[in-house]
Amino acid sequence: MGVVGERAVVIGGSIGGLAAAAALSRRFDLVTVLDRDELPETPRERRGIPHGMHPHALLIGGRLGLEELFPGLTEELVQGGAVPFDPGADALFVQMGAPRIRFATGMLGISLSRAYLESAIRERVRALPNVELRGRVAVSGLTGVPGRVTGVETGGGEPIAADLVVDATGHGGQSNRWLKRLALPAPEIATVKVGVGYTTLQPACGRLAYSSRSSPGDRATTATIPSPTVLQGTAVGGLRCPPTARLVSPAPGCGAGPLLSGR
Ligand SMILES: Cc1cc2nc3c(=O)[nH]c(=O)nc-3n(C[C@H](O)[C@H](O)[C@H](O)COP(=O)(O)OP(=O)(O)OC[C@H]3O[C@@H](n4cnc5c(N)ncnc54)[C@H](O)[C@@H]3O)c2cc1C
Repeated sequence: MGVVGERAVVIGGSIGGLAAAAALSRRFDLVTVLDRDELPETPRERRGIPHGMHPHALLIGGRLGLEELFPGLTEELVQGGAVPFDPGADALFVQMGAPRIRFATGMLGISLSRAYLESAIRERVRALPNVELRGRVAVSGLTGVPGRVTGVETGGGEPIAADLVVDATGHGGQSNRWLKRLALPAPEIATVKVGVGYTTLQPACGRLAYSSRSSPGDRATTATIPSPTVLQGTAVGGLRCPPTARLVSPAPGCGAGPLLSGR
């Protein structure tokens, strides 16, 4: 299959939107990514990603999916300071009171800051000749004719025509409401409640690279999962991260900073 349309518009320039843009760039003459935040040229936290300040890890499935779209990404991230880990060997899971057997899965996850991951992907997408990234553009609705979406409308009242529109605005997405406004059928919503909350302790003295392993023995991180019916568990640890990372454990001589919460 070659080019299938002139222009695709992707609403949202986070991980999902950037991955969609890379895939669509092979099938459209022009792909326009719109995000209401400024899309920085360096790794920076931003308003649209409030959970970005919690420590992040890219698990195996996500890493392999991104690697398909952006060959060499894992190597690039590791060169930049992301930490590879084998979840079976480097993480201690205590489940229902007993530690899980340690074994090498041979599979690789990476621990890194969210800002760094997004920035690396964004720069790959920015380099694609037929993709344009437009920050500070909030989409306020879809445009359409009976039976068909024809593009988007920005908060500034600018219509942008498109053969295909992808909504990658995350959990607060409005496209079902926008479709209803055009009298177009909205897709059914499937919700999976995971019931997970995050609390992160930041070191008071700022963003330091952190290379020591903070879990018992030589494990990088520890997770406790009491039982399938008890929802409270903990994860403790800090894998060394690139300079933009915030850390889970304060460095020696560094007091505890504010607690962050997220869901
Ligand atoms: C506390 C927490 C910790 C997490 N930890 C991990 C982890 O360690 N590893 C992992 O893989 N995943 C993790 N996740 C999940 C992961 O962050 C999300 O799955 C991911 O952010 C979803 O990406 P997305 O591109 O679909 O949407 P989002 O990241 O939510 O991005 C939506 C984008 O759309 C933009 N936008 C919204 N509305 C508009 C509009 N009207 N017009 C223009 N732009 C708009 C926003 O500015 C934003 O850039 C975590 C999530 C949370 C909440």
